Order: sequence, then structure tokens, then C-alpha cells
Amino acid sequence: MIVTIDGPAGSGKSSTAKKVAERIGWNYLDSGALYRTWTLLYVMGGMDKDYFLDVAGVHKVTLSVNEKGTGTEPLLNGEKVGDEIRQPIISSNVSAVAAMGPVRDKVNEEMRRIVQEHHFIADGRDLGSVVFPDAALKFYMVADLGERAKRRYEELKSKGMEVSLEEISRNLADRDAQDSGRDIAPLTRPEGSVEIDTTAMDFDEQVSFISGLINEKLTV
Ligand code: C5P
Repeated sequence: MIVTIDGPAGSGKSSTAKKVAERIGWNYLDSGALYRTWTLLYVMGGMDKDYFLDVAGVHKVTLSVNEKGTGTEPLLNGEKVGDEIRQPIISSNVSAVAAMGPVRDKVNEEMRRIVQEHHFIADGRDLGSVVFPDAALKFYMVADLGERAKRRYEELKSKGMEVSLEEISRNLADRDAQDSGRDIAPLTRPEGSVEIDTTAMDFDEQVSFISGLINEKLTV
């Protein structure tokens, strides 16, 4: 069974999905991490699109379930990637990489493979609309840009990264524009999804709201 949470960058999807999964004993799937890992390969190759698309057939980005069995982690050629996929250079290039059809095909194939094995809460941009249109429950999570930037700033600072609030805000707005405006699988509110505006909600409220609906609507 799969529950999807889509929405713009920094709306709280990942942290909420992770916590909900922990609470109800499901697995968490972070689709953005797969696009970020492909972007790491793109950056390592000097950000040359032709070269990248050539080597994308050789290198592999896969998903494996983590040791605790609570979530997934992306692997680049079988090796774990760490917080380097959260760095500003990756965030500023990921939307361009995610707009490439061959990359989306590989990511979707990998996600569809792994969901055969467990119940998943998955977050992304096109999960309820394109990748898992038959998801048991779909959410669309939004929040004001200022609030999203503030939350992302705190998160990256706590990981010891050197970032500025303005830079983060610009990156979130740029990614929203690119992700919503692309030709293939643009960010959109999936049909039949429950919309949640988290601007004025605290984290526990978001988690309780989603876990509550899952418990109410789904029999696992
Ligand atoms: O979720 P996160 O913000 O880490 O995602 C990084 C980027 O990956 C997004 O800005 C978007 O370009 C891309 N993405 C996507 N489709 C998804 C998930 C992420 O295009 N399902």
C-alpha cells in the first residue's frame, strides 16, 4: 500500500512523511533524494548535459531499505550518499536534472520496484499524479514561501551548512517555478488529494493530521 505527499519545495513533506511512517510502522520513501543523487553525478561530471546523459546509462542510482527498515536510502553505484546531496550546488541544479526524461524514467522504475516490498509513505512532486496514480491516499502539502525558507534555513544550519536565508528563499522559489513549469510530470495538485497548508501548523499537528486520516481511511 502506498500513501503519497506531493508539494512545493520545503513545505515539510519529508520530515512529516518520515515521522508518520515511524508512527504507523510503514517505510518512508524520499523521491527527491533520488533526483538529488542523479544531480550529484551530473555535478561530478562538470554539469555537461550530453556527457551526463551518456554516462547515466552506465551509472546506477538505486534505492535500498535502510538498516533499521524504516526508510529508504539512495545508493550511487551501490555506495551510500550522505548529506552532500543537500548542498546548495545540488539544490540549484536538481530541477534541471529532474526535467530530463531519461532520469525521470529511471527514478520511476526504481521507486515502482521498491514499493512492491513494503507499505510506503512517499514524498515528491508527481507521485500522486503520475508515478502512483492509484495510491491509497494522496496529500498535497503547501506553505508560504517565507515560512518554508525559514524552516529549511534552520534545518541546514543544524547540519552545520553555511547558508543564507535569501539564498534559500531564492532557491525554493526557482525550483517551484521550474518544477511547476516543466513539460514532463510537472508539480501539480493530484486529483483526489487532500490539501494541507502547513504555514500556521506545527510539526506535531501535521503528523497527527496525516496519521489520523490514514488510520481512519485505510485498513492495513
Ligand atoms: O524533495 P526535494 O526538495 O529534495 O526534491 C529535489 C528536487 O527533485 C525537486 O525540486 C524536483 O526538481 C525534483 N523532484 C521531482 N519529482 C519528485 C521529487 C523531486 O522532480 N517526485
